[in-house]
Amino acid sequence: MKFKLTLLLSFFWCFFAFADELPDLGDSSQLILTVKEEQATAREILKEVAESPEIVHDVEVIDYLKNLGDRLVAYSPNKRQQFNFFVVEDTSINAFAMIGGVIGVHTGLLLAANNESEVASVLGHEIAHVTQRHLTRMIAQQKNDSIKTIASLALALLVARANPQLSAGTMTAASAMGVQKELDYTRDHEKEADRVGLQILTDAGFDGRSMVSFFNSLQRGTRFSEGASPSFLRTHPITTERIADIQNRVKQTPYKQIPDNPDFMFIKSKLRASIGTPQSAVDEFEGSIKDKRYINEASERYGLAIAYMRKNEFLKARHEIEWLKSNAKKSAIIETLAAKLEVASNQPDQALNQYIRALNIYPNYRGLVYGLAEHYLMRNQPEKTISLINDKINLYPDDSYFYELLSRAYAKEGKELLQYQSQSESYYRKFNLQQAIQQMELAAKSKDGNFYQKSIVESRLKQLTFEYANDRSKDKK
Ligand SMILES: [Zn+2]
Repeated sequence: MKFKLTLLLSFFWCFFAFADELPDLGDSSQLILTVKEEQATAREILKEVAESPEIVHDVEVIDYLKNLGDRLVAYSPNKRQQFNFFVVEDTSINAFAMIGGVIGVHTGLLLAANNESEVASVLGHEIAHVTQRHLTRMIAQQKNDSIKTIASLALALLVARANPQLSAGTMTAASAMGVQKELDYTRDHEKEADRVGLQILTDAGFDGRSMVSFFNSLQRGTRFSEGASPSFLRTHPITTERIADIQNRVKQTPYKQIPDNPDFMFIKSKLRASIGTPQSAVDEFEGSIKDKRYINEASERYGLAIAYMRKNEFLKARHEIEWLKSNAKKSAIIETLAAKLEVASNQPDQALNQYIRALNIYPNYRGLVYGLAEHYLMRNQPEKTISLINDKINLYPDDSYFYELLSRAYAKEGKELLQYQSQSESYYRKFNLQQAIQQMELAAKSKDGNFYQKSIVESRLKQLTFEYANDRSKDKK
């Protein structure tokens, strides 16, 4: 909540301060932010995102969306544009793009989609807003202001989109100042995002028809689960004309059957199983399995297993996982749940075996690496956490949690310098330079560490301080 309120305040501050020079969307080509400024803004946004309680931190959900996003981005018209994807815990149906290629997706959107292509069609549309620099153009007139201001404006958009109630207030205030139109994409933007998005979607091997079907059901207001509202419509007004346009384009492409990624259904079940009370989650999955109301039995049983685990009914959860192991196609997501069940039901040796066995099959699966690293910490084997993370860190050099785990492991070993150094690297990857510097200073002051380690810390500290000063000088310009 605190996150939303501070942002809301900065949003108003922004508008009161600059109400007289609000975007004029005429020819803004020369006013567009530089790539560097965009990236600095993206870092500001990602810092807030990393600290926000509304963000989904489940690594399997994150990786699912990241893989899907990356697959689409590979076909985007601007190969140099960077992208970051994250999931917002919010039941309304929405997705939004922010400056610097930061794209957020609500859990409500994943839950409302019938298949992966439908999610991909919205992502493709958002990616297109970024590559066509629509948002940048909208905010370009803020160029003379600091990057922080632009970031707060971009973040205010996030808040406005993430929370319908707050958003009503923000939008009313904004429209009272005559800026409502400027906050929404224009019709031309929407058309262009549809066209470019559809191209990305089909090039990446997804079904273009899913864009038609999903936009259609959003427009008609169908397919809303309880509490879900299609807030996507507010910022991207879908018209019959737009849908007809997409339909015409799709008609020109040959039909091909696209096999759906089973992970989509598992991730969707995982999100469904985490909603409501443990009992209501159990009821939902037991009911759908009993009445055979499902597209995919395996993902339904996977959801039921999670719901049972939430209720501490470990025997029942084990029964479902055994069903999955003998009936479903082998997958890392099932193996990970099997290991988590052993941990939850207090079977540390079985948990260890399961993690090691599964990691042998899926050596790069982040959910398993996190799980095993945490499990070693729980077993008081920090040296094993350290060697596991060091073995995998090159696969995910930007992973802040890897460094967090290292820091905890070094703390258990009583190694101060390494503990603070890792904590600093973790903050650095959460785009929090101030905290990163503080921790690196602690590392520099720590009593242990040899000459070699100390000089690495010293030079890294210099580098961080330089980066921080550099950011701030840009900010003042
Ligand atoms: Zn749009």
